[in-house]
Amino acid sequence: MDEGRYTEWFSKVRDLIWNDLTPYIERVEREGHIPHDEVIPKLASLGLYGCLVPESYGGLGLTVKQYIPVLVELSKMYAGLRGYLHAHVSASKLLEFATEEQKQKLYPGVASGEIQLGFALTEPDNGTGVDISTTAQRRDDTYYVNGRKHLISNCDIADYLMLVCYTDRSKGPEGISVLMLPKGAPGFTWDPVGGLMGCKGAEHGRLNLNDAQVPAENLLGGVEGKGLHHALEALEESRLFIASTSLGTAERVLELSLEYAQQRVTFGKPIATRETVRSYLAEMAMDIYALRTMLADAIAKIDRGERIPAEAAMCKQFGAEAVFRVTDRALLVHGGLGYTTQRDIERHYRDCRINMIEEGTPSIQKTVIARTFLDGYRFPDFGGQL
Ligand SMILES: Cc1cc2nc3c(=O)[nH]c(=O)nc-3n(C[C@H](O)[C@H](O)[C@H](O)COP(=O)(O)OP(=O)(O)OC[C@H]3O[C@@H](n4cnc5c(N)ncnc54)[C@H](O)[C@@H]3O)c2cc1C
Repeated sequence: MDEGRYTEWFSKVRDLIWNDLTPYIERVEREGHIPHDEVIPKLASLGLYGCLVPESYGGLGLTVKQYIPVLVELSKMYAGLRGYLHAHVSASKLLEFATEEQKQKLYPGVASGEIQLGFALTEPDNGTGVDISTTAQRRDDTYYVNGRKHLISNCDIADYLMLVCYTDRSKGPEGISVLMLPKGAPGFTWDPVGGLMGCKGAEHGRLNLNDAQVPAENLLGGVEGKGLHHALEALEESRLFIASTSLGTAERVLELSLEYAQQRVTFGKPIATRETVRSYLAEMAMDIYALRTMLADAIAKIDRGERIPAEAAMCKQFGAEAVFRVTDRALLVHGGLGYTTQRDIERHYRDCRINMIEEGTPSIQKTVIARTFLDGYRFPDFGGQL
C-alpha cells in the first residue's frame, strides 16, 4: 500500500481497535468465544483479513513493516483478538505458494474475510516438523488423510485449514505437503480444547482425520513435497509477528505502569518517586527499546526479500523473554491490584504467556539460531560504521 494511503488507513485501524473492538474484551473474557458474526464485519470493513493478500487479488498488499503496527496495536488492546486475526493472516501467507488457479479461487474471499483460514501443524501424538505422523494418500483425484492435530486455532470457523502432512513418508522432509482441508470434508471432525490460560476467544481444537477426503486440487502449489519449505518460510515472517505481539503488550503495560506509578501515593508521595519503582520502569523501557530495535532490523531485511531464519527466531525468543520480564515488572509496580481483574495488567500478564510457546518453543528458536550460525551465517561487518 502506498505510504499516503497507509497513514490514513492506519489511523482508521487505530480508531476501530480502540473504539469499536474494545467493548469485546469483557465479553470474550467472560464467554470465552469471539462473537464472529459481529467481529468479522468490523475487521473486514478495513480489509484486515487481507493485510498480506496482494492488491491485485483484492487485498491490502501490506509490507511486513506496514502490517506489524496492526498487530502491535491489537496486542496493546486485546491479545485474544490478535490471536484470532493472526491465525488467519499468517495462514494466508502460505497462499503465496499456491498455483495461479488456487490464488484466483481463494485470495478474494480470504481478503474480504468471507473465507476464514487456519494453519494445522501441531500433533498430540508426535513432535512438530518431520516428526508429524498425519499422512495423506492419493487415490484418483482425492487425498485420504489420517492422523490427529491439536491446538489448531480457528478450527471452528475456518473454511480451509492449511494442513501440514506427509504425502510420501519415504522421502522424509521432502515428502511433506500442505493440503487445504475444507470445512466439512467427509472424515474430518474436530473437538474443542477448552480452558485456555489467556488469549481467549478463538477455538484451538483437536482435529480427527479418519480417511478425511481432500480434493487433489487442494494440494498447495500443485506439487507434493514442498510443504516443509513453504511452512518454514512462512514461519520466519510469522515469528516476527509474534515478536510484534510481545512488543505491543510490553508497550501497553509500560504505559499503564507509568500512569499507575504517578497516581498511587504511599507515605505521602507517588510511588513513581521511589528508586525501586523507577528501576522497574527503566528495566521495562530498556527491554522495549531493545525489542523495537531488533524488530526494525529484521523487518527491513525481510522487506528487502532476505531470508532471516536467525533474526526471526531471535526476535521471537527475545520478544517473549522481554514481555515476560516487562509484565513481571508491571505487576510489581501495580502491587496487589495488578493481581486482580480490576487492572488490565492481570490479563496482559496471562495473555503474553503464549508468546513463548506459539510458533515454536525456546528450544526450537535456539536450535534454529545456533544452527544458522554454525552453518556459517555471520552478522555483517560494521565496516567502520554502525
Ligand atoms: C493458544 C494456542 C494456539 C495455537 N495455535 C496453533 C495453530 O493454529 N496451529 C498449530 O499447528 N499449532 C498451534 N498451537 C500449538 C503450538 O504451536 C505448540 O503448542 C507449540 O509449537 C509447542 O509444541 P507442543 O505443544 O507440541 O510442545 P512439545 O513439542 O510437546 O514441547 C514440550 C516441551 O518439550 C520441548 N521439546 C520437545 N521436543 C524437543 C526436542 N526434540 N528437543 C528439545 N526439546 C524438545 C519443547 O521445547 C517444550 O519445552 C497453538 C497453541 C496454543 C496454546
